[in-house]
Amino acid sequence: MNADFSTTLLKWYQEYGRDLPWRQTHDPYAIWLSEIILQQTQVKQGWDYWTRFMHRWSTVEALASATEDEVLREWQGLGYYSRARNLHFAAKQIVAMGHFPDTLEDIKKLKGVGDYTAAAIASFAFGIPAAVVDGNVYRVLARHFGIDTPINTTEGKKLFAAMAQELLPAGQSPSSVVLPPSSQYNQAIMDFGAIQCTPASPNCMFCPLIESCIAFRENRVAELPVKLKTLKVTERHLSYIYIKCNGETAIHRRGPGDIWQGLWEPLLVDEQQLSQFSHHYSLRLVKKGVKHVLTHRVLFADFYLLETTTKPTLPNDYVWILESDIDNYALPRLIEIMIEHITSKI
Ligand code: SF4
Repeated sequence: MNADFSTTLLKWYQEYGRDLPWRQTHDPYAIWLSEIILQQTQVKQGWDYWTRFMHRWSTVEALASATEDEVLREWQGLGYYSRARNLHFAAKQIVAMGHFPDTLEDIKKLKGVGDYTAAAIASFAFGIPAAVVDGNVYRVLARHFGIDTPINTTEGKKLFAAMAQELLPAGQSPSSVVLPPSSQYNQAIMDFGAIQCTPASPNCMFCPLIESCIAFRENRVAELPVKLKTLKVTERHLSYIYIKCNGETAIHRRGPGDIWQGLWEPLLVDEQQLSQFSHHYSLRLVKKGVKHVLTHRVLFADFYLLETTTKPTLPNDYVWILESDIDNYALPRLIEIMIEHITSKI
């Protein structure tokens, strides 16, 4: 079954594979350049840039001897400028190595080259049987084999990487100018994902894999691949006033529907309340912008100290407790650390 899958893709590729200029060469420099450009760029736009780069700097030595400014200027319009800086840096790395690295491990040492890019260079430039796993590959494998393990989890990444590797066809290249079957298969599955098994409108009706495709059979094409929603990390700013009044302090318990539900904290104030307190009392800023990372939030907290002999009027949910009793209350770790810090400084 797996051999059928790979053979079908190779056949499809013979007929429909994209004719891209960096596929007409084994020059690792040209292939590496194309892979870096295509990391966050569509083929159509990337093609132009690749041609311009190759025209201006036809060898890695030439690129390495350019200034970073020149490379950045040529890159202008492609975005994600760290790619251009890494490209230039890696060109110098390669020149220092004395040759283009020709093993998967050494290719990975180049700045800006991750697992996917390293496998692509190793496979397309050196014929190394390393499976490439990009978005296209995830989609084709998930759909054809009906796999619903989320692709953006550690488990999913491992599973798909192992599967992709297992599907690589064996065999040597018949000549030095023809890529071995594993490399052709890598190109085939990526093109298949880009042209046939596309994200929104896969051409299932005219697909050579329709008979064996589990997603098609089970009507799950639109569901696969599964990607876990990653919640956006938001920033939040908090201001606390720790009140010391004749050996007592005021705390309240946090309510439901927010962070730290059920835990206790000192007086939490918004900007307006903070300015009112500053107006009436002498507040001392103890720590500013203390960073605390939660799963989907990054908190930045300011801590103030208010020492007074008369208790300020506070909202009803605040209670006055002996400072020495604070250990009996469950506090968020950030608050615990800050109270320890404040009380140890007094
Ligand atoms: S049948 Fe449809 S979903 Fe399945 S591999 Fe072909 S194009 Fe993709």
